[in-house]
Amino acid sequence: RPTIGVLALQGDVREHRAMLERAGAATVAVRRPEELAGLDGIVLPGGESTTISKLARTFGLLDPLRTALRQGLPAFGTCAGMIMLAEHVENGVPDQETFGGLDVVVRRNAFGRQVDSFEADLDVDGLADRFHALFIRAPWVEKIGASVEVVARIAAGNRPEAVGRIVAVRQGHLLATSFHPEITGDHRIHALFVDLVRETVRAAGPEDHERK
Ligand code: GLN
Repeated sequence: RPTIGVLALQGDVREHRAMLERAGAATVAVRRPEELAGLDGIVLPGGESTTISKLARTFGLLDPLRTALRQGLPAFGTCAGMIMLAEHVENGVPDQETFGGLDVVVRRNAFGRQVDSFEADLDVDGLADRFHALFIRAPWVEKIGASVEVVARIAAGNRPEAVGRIVAVRQGHLLATSFHPEITGDHRIHALFVDLVRETVRAAGPEDHERK
């Protein structure tokens, strides 16, 4: 089974680990650069992107993780984790730093304030049935680069300002959702990520995998 790290600087690390394990992965918490070694993939949980970025710098993880993502380490970012994967952030703090890699513009706190957290049933590319998604001070994806695929949008019948907004994307080895799939008891999106990780490991071949 693949080994997937969960960035454990802030956020709901335990919930992500539980979902990944249900989806067939082994998991480890990642706080130090050394802990990136040997991972087949990494999850970047939600929380507060400005805090995560400061902690990542303090823990010496910002540059090593940036490099690992650029070298092809599969990653799945949820909410603040989506922001951390984005190349460009709107409505961020000045000079907000991210790990980057995902060729998108995300808008932070796009749907409104904390009290405006909401739920929506989504059609997600690759899932047979709708996914019940929970949004908490969530970002949306405002622009995507040519190599980015839209995985989910908010459907008609939801809050009018939200309808049509992109809330899940994939670019090769990178997957990101605006919502929190780790807290609604449905591990299908984590399973999609575990599949993506397995494909990447297989494509790299056994030797490459051992070297990592
Ligand atoms: N609003 C947070 C941020 O900007 C994200 C919220 C979340 O992860 N639930 O980082």
